[in-house]
Amino acid sequence: MANLGIPQNTISIIQKYDFHFQKKFGQNFLIDPHVLEKIIASAGIGREDFVLEIGPGIGTMTQYLCEHAGQVMAVEIDKNLIPILEETLQEYQNVSIVNQDILKMDLKEIAEKENDGKRIKVVANLPYYITTPIIMELFESRMPLESVTVMVQKEVADRMQAEPGTKEYGALSLAVQYYAEAEIVANVPPNSFLPRPKVGSAVIRLTCHKENPVQVKDERFLFRIIRASFNQRRKTLQNGLANDPSLSVSKEQVAEALESMGLSATIRGERLSLQEFAALSNLLK
Ligand code: SAM
Repeated sequence: MANLGIPQNTISIIQKYDFHFQKKFGQNFLIDPHVLEKIIASAGIGREDFVLEIGPGIGTMTQYLCEHAGQVMAVEIDKNLIPILEETLQEYQNVSIVNQDILKMDLKEIAEKENDGKRIKVVANLPYYITTPIIMELFESRMPLESVTVMVQKEVADRMQAEPGTKEYGALSLAVQYYAEAEIVANVPPNSFLPRPKVGSAVIRLTCHKENPVQVKDERFLFRIIRASFNQRRKTLQNGLANDPSLSVSKEQVAEALESMGLSATIRGERLSLQEFAALSNLLK
């Protein structure tokens, strides 16, 4: 089968099957061999790897994955794409095509059944309307993950990689950094897709920590504190946390905890690192 990264080949397949792009599924197909090669190289895919691809589309990146990986599972929600994938991937024996919504799958079970519980790599050009839910589901499912290399909206990539004190820094940055080390590996212009998205894109690699970078008494409490801090971004941390009834902490308790950490009582949440949020959550719990 011809390389679908070449725009003319993608157009031929779309015409042959009279395929109509569905906006509700975030369908923007890659038509740029350089970008495809860059993604495969950044993810470091080799024959020892089991790769989960979310949203294969017509199979453009899947072809590249099959050429490099040991085994590939491609999960696609749009049933109209399944016959196309069966044709474009017919020469590969190391791929399974699954017609499912990735958010409805038991990801931990996939790793157990398909890869003997060993760590898997996720590679995807994600549908932008559900980028964050997918990333959080991958981490929170506690499936054994080695890395997640994904194309996302540029602005979302910036938020994932952001450092304290910057305007991009927020709950998403902290959640991603809790589970992985984030690195933007390429910026990708709208021209690399069909149809062209309205926004710029970036490829980000999240290399999962083998051990948690911080030790917390209660993970859920840590994330509740993080969310409360950024819900009211303009407020001081002590007001933000005291105003959130689900935390049941007083302004005085927050001030005392901050003081014992050597931080000002009027500090804003956007200044605190993951390590400081972890320390604060342990003091308040
Ligand atoms: N991988 C292809 C490429 O790079 O050309 C397509 C990428 S396109 C941005 C996103 C793909 O994800 C589409 O094929 C879309 O149908 C699929 N998709 C959207 N929501 C999904 C979901 N919840 N579960 C699985 N696939 C989904």
